[in-house]
Amino acid sequence: MIIVLKPTATEADAQEILADIERLGLKPLHMPGVERVVIGALGDERVLRELNLASHPAVESLKPILTPYKLVGRELHPHDSVVNVGNVPIGGQRFVVIAGPCAVETPEQLLAAAQAVKANGAHLMRGGAFKPRSSPYSFQGHGEDGLKMLKSVSEQTGLPVVSEIVDGHDVDLMEPYVAAYQVGARNMHNFTLLKALGRTRKPVILKRGLAATIEEFLLAAEYIVAAGNENVILCERGIRTFETATRNTLDLNAVAYIKWKSHLPVLVDPSHGTGVRELVIPLARAAAAVGADGIIVEVHPDPRKALSDGHQSLYPHEFAALMASIKPFVEAAGKVLA
Ligand code: PEP
Ligand code: MN
Repeated sequence: MIIVLKPTATEADAQEILADIERLGLKPLHMPGVERVVIGALGDERVLRELNLASHPAVESLKPILTPYKLVGRELHPHDSVVNVGNVPIGGQRFVVIAGPCAVETPEQLLAAAQAVKANGAHLMRGGAFKPRSSPYSFQGHGEDGLKMLKSVSEQTGLPVVSEIVDGHDVDLMEPYVAAYQVGARNMHNFTLLKALGRTRKPVILKRGLAATIEEFLLAAEYIVAAGNENVILCERGIRTFETATRNTLDLNAVAYIKWKSHLPVLVDPSHGTGVRELVIPLARAAAAVGADGIIVEVHPDPRKALSDGHQSLYPHEFAALMASIKPFVEAAGKVLA
């Protein structure tokens, strides 16, 4: 419920209502504005009836929050959120580019990838140290050794690093190595992991599950924010459909829909979204044009030798072509490629 207080309401009125909300077992939110105080009550709104807020002398109006995702929706929070990853703000006017290999393989591979993406204007680098693979026989990543390589390359290039977390017990282990945690598509429904990430303040890039609806995706983000971490960035990375020509179907509807309904920044991953190297540049442009806040792209210095996702990784010269051609699409959507 959104409770708007009258301009004449006092601080004591606000505190009394906040305490009543808490007493009933709902989560109270205090949002003092310039002219009016707005109070949020999150939880089962039916129990609020006993407070008879409609006839409270300090209350101007009551509005139920209609969406099930209350904290990440725009009803309580109409303005776009900006989440800082390292020194890079994501959301708002800027279009950010995160690029790097699917997996951390060797120090040389990682440094070459980072230098190539940095030289062409990437803002952040990516690289998986923990790889949740569909097959137990595929390369699973180098774990903490991979995180050390990421940290070293980040220090050498100045690019903040994002890397995937697959286990809630690794939150503290990863904390000193990464600027943001990435939650992969296969873990979007891992509620224990989401709650563990809610206990940190470090940003989380949450990828959409392979078969998750938009509502399920936003509710997964709600888990993190409800557990205390507001620094969530969403990432559309393609969903499973009947189509087999591409690895996934990149759902650009979802980007426009989520930008409409949620204040969180939204990234697009055209690499996993298509699974086809030749389609990464066109879909990166489409992501910019539809109003995404950035992209996360796989780039490898030698994709033929990649231990994972080489088929969809760009060569450095292709990444250069992407960066050289995306600007008009970013600007058409009213953003800047800073
Ligand atoms: C990845 O980013 O390399 C990855 C595994 O992505 P997703 O979780 O979207 O499949
Ligand atoms: Mn990958």
